[in-house]
Amino acid sequence: MLSYKGYLDKIREESKNTYPLKNPHNNELIEEVPECPDELMEAAISKADDAFQSFKNVSSHERASILDKTAQIVEDNLELFATTISMESAKPIKFAKGEVSRTVETLKFSAIEAKKLEGESIPLDAALNGKGRDAYTIYQPIGVVGAITPFNFPLNLVVHKAGPAIAAGNTIVVKPAEQTPLSSILLREAFVKAGLPEDAFIVVTGEGPRLGQVLLNDERVQKITFTGSPQVGKLIKSQAGLKKVTLELGNNSALYIDQSFEDQIEQIADKVVVGAFSYNGQVCISTQRIYVHDRIAEDFIKHLKNKSEKLNFGEPTDESTDYSSLINEKSQNRVFEWIKEATENGAVLHLGGNKIGNGIEPTILSDVDPSAKLSCEEVFGPVVIVNKVNNSQEALEEMNHSQYGLNAGVFTKDLKQALLFGHELDVGQVLINDVPTLRFDHMPYGGRKNSGYGYEGVKYAIKEMVNRKLISLNYS
Ligand code: NAD
Repeated sequence: MLSYKGYLDKIREESKNTYPLKNPHNNELIEEVPECPDELMEAAISKADDAFQSFKNVSSHERASILDKTAQIVEDNLELFATTISMESAKPIKFAKGEVSRTVETLKFSAIEAKKLEGESIPLDAALNGKGRDAYTIYQPIGVVGAITPFNFPLNLVVHKAGPAIAAGNTIVVKPAEQTPLSSILLREAFVKAGLPEDAFIVVTGEGPRLGQVLLNDERVQKITFTGSPQVGKLIKSQAGLKKVTLELGNNSALYIDQSFEDQIEQIADKVVVGAFSYNGQVCISTQRIYVHDRIAEDFIKHLKNKSEKLNFGEPTDESTDYSSLINEKSQNRVFEWIKEATENGAVLHLGGNKIGNGIEPTILSDVDPSAKLSCEEVFGPVVIVNKVNNSQEALEEMNHSQYGLNAGVFTKDLKQALLFGHELDVGQVLINDVPTLRFDHMPYGGRKNSGYGYEGVKYAIKEMVNRKLISLNYS
């Protein structure tokens, strides 16, 4: 049976220290997790580098087969993966199951892309000095990929790195979030069971700043792929030297609802409840700033409030739970303080605003000062702010008035408006007639401004994990 225990025991034996991993909802101890010393990270890089020397020669057919088999193993163990995610991250089980299903898809997309790493043929005689020559390009794996991942999607976001890395013929060392190491270990076990060499995927648990530094300092690590906060992302980029880097960072996602959706405002409220409050708003594209046409704003707030107050707080592993605790007390206090700051400066509180267990109630505010943290920063909690606007131009300007640029959503039945928003929003992805809290795992996905650098989505991530080589043929 698949289990993280064996691997955990092994690295625990090699590490002197451990830290207690607790369920964020009920504070129960789940495991003592190794606080791996620097030497263990160095050893992991050495092993992954050695493994690369043979794995780079494994055919794309075989790599695809490993990825497909891993997908099957994850699917067969859906309950185990979902419970592990739910337990360590306090993600309600229904959303954890959704994450596992998406992971299966991401693995299958990786298997497809493993077989499609095709170069191009280039007639060199287009250049003055190229007569009698043709060229073609090939893609070659780069070596060891270092992945640093966040707590909020502890399985699928690891696969968004491991999938393309393995598909391309690389090996990978994963440093998961301190709060959620078990899901990535379980994933690693699934890969190994599917036939991946043991050292082609290594998980090193422990403190981010310290172990991250070892990955960054090691010349054998060819690429750092990071998902997490902008503060850490910027630090990594500044220290990465000539390594390839991909950064998937935060956002304070905006949504505009124009008056053409007046007749469907209740259905939109349903979608916003999911967009804003799924996994307690701890989603990088959680719906945070909503701009609603003045004419329909009151009606929208009424429906949003009615629907949100029906959400159930409870144990993450309980099927009836809609929202649970935040990842830690620090996060709970921060979100609470930001709500307080907004209300003390005149914001109207329509729902929530209180602590509940280790979480925060779903919170709806309007009239929030544009300089308040809830307007300017990423809240990463179950809080949504509603702003009234008079026209689409005002909405567009407000939405773009952000240090972030990942996803944005627009509800409009006016095609011209839809196209205008599509072109003018300064973000990586625009979702027309959807909330911004949507990602399809094969689409290109990347942020602008403080939201990121480079792209994920397997087909695109894989191109950032290979070296392109040109081979020219002289037949003159
Ligand atoms: P975080 O930045 O605190 O931690 C992310 C990872 O970085 C963890 O593994 C952590 O141990 C490690 N880390 C911390 N300090 C480091 C350092 N100095 N050097 C190297 N590694 C270090 O983020 P988090 O709280 O786990 O996740 C929340 C953030 O992630 C939010 O900002 C969210 O928007 C973002 N996120 C972005 C996406 C996306 O695809 N754009 C997806 C999910 C989450």
